[in-house]
Amino acid sequence: MATVAKANPQPVPPRTFGTSREDLNPYRIAQLQFDIAAEHLKLDPGLRQVLRTPKRIMEVAIPTKMDNGQLKVFTGFRVQHNIARGPAKGGMRYHPGVTLDEVKALASWMTWKTATVNIPYGGGKGGVICDPKRMSKPELERMTRRFLSEILPIIGPDKDIPAPDVYTDAQTMAWMMDTYSMTLGATSLGVVTGKPVSLGGSLGRNEATARGCLFVTEEACKVKKISLRGATVAIQGFGNAGAIAARLFAEKKAKIIAVSDSRGGVHSSRGIDPMKALRYKERTGTVVGMPGTSRISNEELLALKCDILIPAALENCITLENADQIKAKIVAEAANGPTTPHADEVLARKGIFLLPDILANAGGVTVSYFEWAQNLQGYFWEEHEVNAKLEKVIKKAFYDVYEAARKYHVHNRTGAYILAVGRVADATMVRGLFP
Ligand code: GLU
Repeated sequence: MATVAKANPQPVPPRTFGTSREDLNPYRIAQLQFDIAAEHLKLDPGLRQVLRTPKRIMEVAIPTKMDNGQLKVFTGFRVQHNIARGPAKGGMRYHPGVTLDEVKALASWMTWKTATVNIPYGGGKGGVICDPKRMSKPELERMTRRFLSEILPIIGPDKDIPAPDVYTDAQTMAWMMDTYSMTLGATSLGVVTGKPVSLGGSLGRNEATARGCLFVTEEACKVKKISLRGATVAIQGFGNAGAIAARLFAEKKAKIIAVSDSRGGVHSSRGIDPMKALRYKERTGTVVGMPGTSRISNEELLALKCDILIPAALENCITLENADQIKAKIVAEAANGPTTPHADEVLARKGIFLLPDILANAGGVTVSYFEWAQNLQGYFWEEHEVNAKLEKVIKKAFYDVYEAARKYHVHNRTGAYILAVGRVADATMVRGLFP
């Protein structure tokens, strides 16, 4: 019998909770963002309680055999925040800093995101407290399969559909799909999205978060009368969203002047070739040290003078501490929750045009929706069709948000929340209360 060791003997302290000046608990931030919109919409107090509370929370222990023969017990969560407009939908995050409050926040952001782009889903999210960078592929596979089997009763193509998020990818989704299908005794493609294209994944899904971010930024540039061609761009985070955004923005002839990852950043006023940065990171594990660039910190990257700043990493990057130093004209949130409510006010005062996460990174879940629709029909689309449909959905959402913000005299985040919360409130009221 293998010995049992606790996987997380010293839980990583929540990254930035509760500094003296600002409450950085992501769940309280999510609720505050909701409350601001609910106030503008003058929602009934009972309805507010329904919409600000997660519908279902599942916490599971995930016993996993490690390569050295030891057994470790990981902790995993799946939160379904709201299913008024359709099944719960949202990613699975593997990170040492995962907390239940973070997953609750991320689940609620999914509810507002799917409503902002008006696709027929609610919001959910999952997470496992683990350090995937220090786990082997077989360890990750065993942990993933056991995690999925523990939450299996609440997952399904018409119940709750997981997808990739921070440090999970198409391979993770393939294992989840297989575990679900083997348990069911039938191949179920629609149970997760972000799958490999060889296993019912959609063409264009891998680039979709970054592509959606590009589409909304193009519209923001029109509004702000900035030419994207030649615009300077700084990108914090070089994962699926950040690295692909660098490539897509460079293809539009924008100049990528800085990129960063968890180990630090690099800067070049002459511009960074995203493909070279990607190859360098693949070889060395980080963008830091890339030839022809100078080293900068993540903090310095955020404060660079540039036209477009893309936070594409984790929550709470732009806070009351540094909001005043942001010099970008447009902030496009490829990450979830990178800016705090207090920082929002500072950016708005400075005249910075904010593209909030629930709009700017909604391309990912939008193409997840297309993937799911293709899976349910058993009929697959060409990549240009996927991209054209994504462009239509995202650009419409951009103008819906922009109009709402103007109508209520608020910044774009609150505009997006007013739009989204209004849609979910309408669905909830017309469904009525059961029993
Ligand atoms: N994890 C991504 C997000 O935060 C994608 C979710 C999905 O495709 O369901 O939007």
